[in-house]
Amino acid sequence: MRIAVVSDVHANLAAVEAVLRHAEGERALDAVWSLGDLVGYGPQPSDCLALLRGQRFHSVAGNHDLAASAVIDTEDFNPAAAAANAWNASQLDEDERSFLRGLPRTLELEAMQLAHGSLRDPVWEYLITIPGALAQFERMTARFSFVGHTHVPLVFIEGGEGGEGGESAFELDYEQPEAGSVRLLGEQRLILNPGSVGQPRDGDPRAAYAIYDTAAQTVVFHRVEYEIARTQAAMVAAELPRSLIERLSHGR
Ligand code: ZN
Repeated sequence: MRIAVVSDVHANLAAVEAVLRHAEGERALDAVWSLGDLVGYGPQPSDCLALLRGQRFHSVAGNHDLAASAVIDTEDFNPAAAAANAWNASQLDEDERSFLRGLPRTLELEAMQLAHGSLRDPVWEYLITIPGALAQFERMTARFSFVGHTHVPLVFIEGGEGGEGGESAFELDYEQPEAGSVRLLGEQRLILNPGSVGQPRDGDPRAAYAIYDTAAQTVVFHRVEYEIARTQAAMVAAELPRSLIERLSHGR
C-alpha cells in the first residue's frame, strides 16, 4: 500500500490540493491518513473535509477538530487560534461536526500507531523532546508511530546515537534528498512526524507530508509548493486574524 500521511491540514485547501496532486503524481495512492487538526486557523474547513473524505481516508482527532465540534473548549488556545477556531466551527454543518466529534484519539493501521500529539496525551502533548519520545516508545505496541501537532517534521530513533536512553532525533534536511527518506528495517523502532500541510512552522513555508510505502517499507518526507496567496486571500475575505495570514508566508 502507498499511503499519504498528512497532519495539521488546518483548513488550507490550496495546500492539501497541492499535496494530493504531488502524491498522486508519482503513483496512485491507496489511502490517506491524517494525524488530526483538519480544521482551525485556515479559511476552507468544509472543502478540506469533503476532499479528504472523498479518499480512502482515516484520521485521528486533533485539538482543533475537537474544539470546532464543541467536544473541548478553546480556553487553552491563544486568542488568534481561538478566534479562527470559532470561525471554523461556524462554517461547519451538523454532518461535518459529528464527523469531527467521532474521530478516534488513536488508531493502529498497517503496523503504525497514529496520534495527534502522542499516545500518552493524544490531544495536547507536543512530542519534541527525548523524554517525551521515551514515554512514547514505552507505550508503543507497534514498531512505528506517527504523530503531528508540532507542525515540525521530525524522526525519533530508538537506540540511536546520544540522548538519555540512546535515543536520537533529527529534523529532516530537504536539501539532501536521501535525508528525506527513512527505511523501516530491522528491529529499530521509530516515531515519525511528517510536519504540517496547512501551517508549517519550521521556517519552510512549503506544505509538508510523507508517503508510507508498506511494500518498500519506507517513509519518504516531502515538501510541496502551493499557492499561499490563494489561501491568504480567502483568509482576508473571512476576516481571520492577520498574524495567522502572515505566518503562512514565513512557515513560522
Ligand atoms: Zn495543528
